[in-house]
Amino acid sequence: MNTSILVTGGAGFIGSHATVVLQQAGYQVVILDNLCNSARSVLDRIERITGTPPTFIQGDIRDAQTLDGVFASHSISAVMHFAGLKAVGESTQVPLSYYDNNINGSVQLLSAMQRADVRTFIFSSSATVYGEPSILPIPEHHSRSATNPYGHTKLVVEDILENLYNSEPGWRIARLRYFNPVGAHPSGLIGEAPQGVPNNLMPYVAQVATGQREKLHVFGNDYDTPDGTGVRDYIHVMDLAEGHLAALRYCEAAQQDMLTVNLGTGEGYSVLDMVRAFEAASGRPVAYEITGRRAGDIASCWADTTFAEQKLGWKAGKGIKEMCEDAWRWEMRQSVKD
Ligand code: NAD
Ligand code: UDP
Repeated sequence: MNTSILVTGGAGFIGSHATVVLQQAGYQVVILDNLCNSARSVLDRIERITGTPPTFIQGDIRDAQTLDGVFASHSISAVMHFAGLKAVGESTQVPLSYYDNNINGSVQLLSAMQRADVRTFIFSSSATVYGEPSILPIPEHHSRSATNPYGHTKLVVEDILENLYNSEPGWRIARLRYFNPVGAHPSGLIGEAPQGVPNNLMPYVAQVATGQREKLHVFGNDYDTPDGTGVRDYIHVMDLAEGHLAALRYCEAAQQDMLTVNLGTGEGYSVLDMVRAFEAASGRPVAYEITGRRAGDIASCWADTTFAEQKLGWKAGKGIKEMCEDAWRWEMRQSVKD
C-alpha cells in the first residue's frame, strides 16, 4: 500500500495550501477535519488545482476511535497537525474549548500515532510563544511566554512534544513557529475565509477594499516603530506551505530528531505599509482610522530566519506585493460561484 501524509485541519487556511504543495510534490494526502472552521468545497478546489482529490475524513482529532480508524485504514507515514482553534480573543472567552481542542486534541492524536507506530510529526506552533520580544530579529532560542489561553496551548504542546521526544526513541518532530501567514494560492481558488468579523489585519483590509466593511481600525500609531503602527513579519501562505514540505523532508531523512524552526521572511512591515501594498494590488482605496491599541499587542515582531535556511534549506521568496495580489484574487473569486 502506498503511504500517505495525514493532514489534520487540511480543509483550513494553512492546511489546504500545505495539501496542495504535498500533492504537487507527489505525496498522497489524507485530510482529517471536523469542518468547524472550514467548508467541504475546499476539497473540490484542491482537486481543481492539483488534479487529485485528497482523501477526506470528516472527524474530530479528540476522538480516539476516529483516529484509530484513520491509522488502521490508511498507511500513514507522517502527520502534519494543523487542526485547532486559533482566535486569541475567543480563547480568553472560552479557554476550556481551546485547551480541549488544542492540547487534548494533540494528546489524542499523538497517542493514536504511538499506537499505530507512526512517529513523524509536524506541528503548527506560532511566534506568539515568544511573547514580547527582547531582541529582533527573534531567534529560536528566545525565551517563551504566553499572555492568553491560545498562546498557552502552543507553549504546552511544544513542551509535550519535547517530553515525548525524550521519552522514547524514533520520534521525528518539527515544531514550526509561524509568523503572520497571509495571501492565498495564486489560482485564487483557496485562501483564508474567516467567519464573521476578521480578527487579523489582512482579511479585514481585504474586506474594506471590497466595500464589505467601511474602514480599517488601526490599533495604535504610538508604538516605537518607524510610522508608529505595529510591525509584523508577514509570510505568504505558499511559502509557509513549502516550509512544511522542507520540514517533512528533513524529518524523513533523520533517524530521530526534534527541530524547532521559525517560518517567517525576516522582514517587518507596519500596518500602514500593508494598507498601501493592498491598495496598490487591488486598485481600491482602503479607508482607515487610527484607534487605541489592542490589548496584548506588541510593537514589533519579525523572525531570524538563519536557522531555517541552514537546517531546512528553505527561505521565503514572496514579498508583500505578491501576498496582497494573491489575497485580492482570492477575495474577488469568492464572490464567483463554483
Ligand atoms: P483554520 O481555522 O483555517 O484551520 C484549522 C482547521 O482545523 C479548520 O479546517 C477546522 O475545521 C479544523 N479543526 C479545528 N478543530 C478541530 C478538531 N478538533 N478536529 C478536527 N478538525 C479541527 O486555521 P489556520 O489558519 O489554517 O491554522 C492552522 C494551524 O496553524 C492552527 O493550529 C493555528 O493555531 C496555527 N497557526 C495559525 C496562524 C495564522 O495566523 N493563521 C499563525 C500561527 C499558527
Ligand atoms: N491590526 C490592526 N487592525 C486590525 C487588525 C490588526 O491595526 O483590525 C494590527 C495589529 O495591531 C498588529 C497587526 O495589525 O499590529 C497584525 O495583527 P494580526 O491580528 O493580523 O496578527 P498578530 O500579529 O496580532 O497575531
